[in-house]
Amino acid sequence: MLAGARGVGHLLKSTPRLVGSESSRRALCVGTTAAASHGLRMLIMGPPGGGKGTISNWIKADYKTNHVSSGDILRSHIEQGTELGTKAADFIRNGALVPDDVMVGLIDAELDRLGGKSWLLDGFPRNDTQAQSLASKGHHPDVVLLLDIPDEVIIERIKHRWVHVSSGRVYHTLYNPPQKEGIDDETGEPLIQRPDDTVEAVTKRLESYHKMTDPLAEFFKNNLRTFKGSESKKIYPEIQKVLSTMI
Ligand code: AMP
Repeated sequence: MLAGARGVGHLLKSTPRLVGSESSRRALCVGTTAAASHGLRMLIMGPPGGGKGTISNWIKADYKTNHVSSGDILRSHIEQGTELGTKAADFIRNGALVPDDVMVGLIDAELDRLGGKSWLLDGFPRNDTQAQSLASKGHHPDVVLLLDIPDEVIIERIKHRWVHVSSGRVYHTLYNPPQKEGIDDETGEPLIQRPDDTVEAVTKRLESYHKMTDPLAEFFKNNLRTFKGSESKKIYPEIQKVLSTMI
């Protein structure tokens, strides 16, 4: 068995499903139910523009977990004009991956900071080196949620995608438009189109995703749950079914 792959059998001896705030409270404290000594650790994987951000926001709201998004962390560094952000911006703009040592340091520090709390890791690991490093630091996900979305769907979707940077809320101008064009529904702040959301950059990111990330499905095969489809709204209930057996 590979270093990052642990069975989920120990998670399935769950107590009956709880609802509402009690469910959320228990989600943070699954030591008594799903995992022996820590909150539920989830990893979400999928192609860029495949709905990871949207689904992660729903999971975050429903299960009160800590969303650790590598892309959001980098974008917040860029917004704040940190040295790391300035370096990362060039890679991101060109649709390239930020160097592994930078990413490993960032994510490791964040997961260490969360200690035994529940987390949902999104956007990391992106390749074998990052996966090995995650495992070597003892950060083993209890379940890996893989979104299997066709490339054509992604390219079409990205052209219409607008995001609210600080919350990570994602809109689609045709299927999930904001109430007011260009404005976030909850905060009234402006939405942006990410500079890396061009067809050219997305095609590059998809190539890079398939080459480097597809093998991760093998790495995490013992904990992997795959969700095929093209609409986040249809995929999410299937994810909920899986998570409800663990909380
Ligand atoms: P995302 O929001 O996850 O699509 O990430 C946006 C961009 O940030 C990616 O296209 C990469 O340039 C960079 N990035 C995010 N996560 C990673 C990672 N784990 N490794 C390397 N680069 C990353």
